[in-house]
Amino acid sequence: MIRFDQVSKRYEGGHEALSQLTFEVAKGEMAFVTGHSGAGKSTLLKLLALIERPSHGHISLDGQSLTKIGQGGIPKLRRSLGMVFQDHRLLMDRTVFANVELPLVIGGIAPQERGRRVRAALEKVGLLDYERQLPASLSTGEQQRVGIARAIVAKPSVLIADEPTGNLDPQLAVEIMSLFAEFQQIGTTVLIASHDLPLIKRMKKRVVVLDHGRLVADVAAEEVL
Ligand code: ADP
Ligand code: ADP
Repeated sequence: MIRFDQVSKRYEGGHEALSQLTFEVAKGEMAFVTGHSGAGKSTLLKLLALIERPSHGHISLDGQSLTKIGQGGIPKLRRSLGMVFQDHRLLMDRTVFANVELPLVIGGIAPQERGRRVRAALEKVGLLDYERQLPASLSTGEQQRVGIARAIVAKPSVLIADEPTGNLDPQLAVEIMSLFAEFQQIGTTVLIASHDLPLIKRMKKRVVVLDHGRLVADVAAEEVL
């Protein structure tokens, strides 16, 4: 599903954020990417979402080479790949419904179908009763759930998340991670960057470890202690 082949990324004027990274995530697998701050976790996810481009190497998603996707193809890619951010990035002056609906509006989905899908997504994250509210009236954990609903509303085959529990207390963090695991259970491939090792260990999923842009360990779910 996700394949990195000898991928390196050097930012302009910077050192190498990722060095010759090779790994695969199978369809329907859930994996964590961990490592210290600056290890390259965000960069890895940004390359997948085409927010950044690699300096060397190849990335493919579902057999399609990302290299071949130009600026014009990015909206389509974003529908097959949902992204969740640490700071949720919700539009604070729009309702919960409007925030979750946004990818479908951009995708040109008809209004009636949009309503159905938005409610299905809100139901999945347990926020069906909140659709008329503004994000500011929600708790931090609820706001993050809205961000997740927005990421999955177009039914992406891949869900990626960058430190999705970074702003949450431990109890809420576990709930959010369990929600990701539920999406894996319905067939979604899930890749989560996190530096919260205790939480990662609890989840018992594969863990890919980066250090200074290099892959230094790849621990299978069964081997997570
Ligand atoms: P992590 O998510 O593991 O903290 P990042 O992928 O954010 O790591 O960063 C990896 C390295 O790339 C760091 O050294 C960081 O300073 C550098 N970096 C990240 N983004 C940029 C950028 N836009 N320009 C220059 N250097 C960057
Ligand atoms: P519907 O057919 O009404 O769209 P589904 O039960 O198939 O309903 O899905 C309900 C919601 O669950 C979707 O809107 C979407 O948010 C989420 N969902 C379903 N399947 C997936 C999937 N494979 N990946 C991510 N999200 C999904």
